[in-house]
Amino acid sequence: MTDTQTVATYRAIEPGHGACQTCNEVHPLTNRHNQPAAVNRHGVRHKRWLLPVHGPRNNRCAGSHTEPKAWLDAAGLPSWDHLTDLDRGAALMFVWKVRQEGEYAYARDNYPARYRDHPLLAALDAREACRHASAVAGSWAEAIDRLGEAEVERLYDLALNYEREQRSASGV
Ligand SMILES: [Zn+2]
Repeated sequence: MTDTQTVATYRAIEPGHGACQTCNEVHPLTNRHNQPAAVNRHGVRHKRWLLPVHGPRNNRCAGSHTEPKAWLDAAGLPSWDHLTDLDRGAALMFVWKVRQEGEYAYARDNYPARYRDHPLLAALDAREACRHASAVAGSWAEAIDRLGEAEVERLYDLALNYEREQRSASGV
């Protein structure tokens, strides 16, 4: 990644890691099987991943044993509300491919999200771009629930038409 703006504001957070809400340090997360499952903003139940005990021995960080910052916040990436329509469409094209192929990894490796407008997003590698698209759009069904079918189609077509124009302009 050579974009200096990206280096300055984007922070890569490895999967399975999280940034502490108190001290902002990144640690590998631990799965607390004895904790009740949490429900995310899409109504999906998931296991709770907590930060391990950290900080100096005599002064443990108050963020120990708590949930990390949301990945988007920790990574410094924009949420749905801060995306252009074209980038929203790019996120939706990816989650559509996930649904159509029935497998996240296959969609990611063959039809990754391609952001165009937001400089941080356009500079992400394919794996991180896909992770972002799923984080902000949810699944295809969740996107339709949230936005309505007409709006999802409008955004999707916008991104699809843009890709077609790019392809014909480059003569491929
Ligand atoms: Zn901490």
